[in-house]
Amino acid sequence: MPRNTAPANVSSPKDLVQYRVVDASPVDSNSPPGYVERYIHSEIYKRFPEVNGVIHSHAPEIIPYTITSSLLRPCIHMAGFIGRDVPVFDISKHYALDDVRDLLIRNARLGGELAEYLSKPGSASTSASSTAPDHSIVLMRGHGYTVAGSSPEDAIYRAVYARENAAIQTTSLGLAHFSGGKDTEVQYLRDDELEDTGAMVQTAWSRAWGLWRREVEATELYKCDEE
Ligand SMILES: [Zn+2]
Repeated sequence: MPRNTAPANVSSPKDLVQYRVVDASPVDSNSPPGYVERYIHSEIYKRFPEVNGVIHSHAPEIIPYTITSSLLRPCIHMAGFIGRDVPVFDISKHYALDDVRDLLIRNARLGGELAEYLSKPGSASTSASSTAPDHSIVLMRGHGYTVAGSSPEDAIYRAVYARENAAIQTTSLGLAHFSGGKDTEVQYLRDDELEDTGAMVQTAWSRAWGLWRREVEATELYKCDEE
């Protein structure tokens, strides 16, 4: 993970810190300070060995779906991975007496309890031996969301399109509300479209990835000091 700094300050391998999955401790004890919420990442990797990329974000487009009864649902062909019954992690149900109540995932216990939300209650993946999650996204009340992917690129793609989907859903709900009438009901992806759209993007995300790389390379904001 990057050291605890803004993304635009990450410019060389010296800005990256290796952590142990088992407890999110730095491999090199002289590493620069890291993110307090690194337990989100370590506990998901620990719980689901098939996950190879985790993104945690505070994107404001997602937040309304963490604090209202409106459920985040897949609206667009690039976001079938959102699936049905997106879990919302309410950290207030998980605080221990001595936890700091700032909504952050500050320790391995909270990270582990967040990771469990990626399993559907009662499904096979709730067994400790399962290696892949049922959900690839979990919303976090008043805070943000976390996505899990099969690779870092896959996780980034999901994080970006979850945000895009939320923005489109919010706009659509507003239009439907102000237009009134049953013809304006928002049309979400059908259940039988979720699997195929999810499979389609497994090959489609590489185009988006190429664009995002070029955008980073082309902007003055980001520097690359070393290859
Ligand atoms: Zn956070």
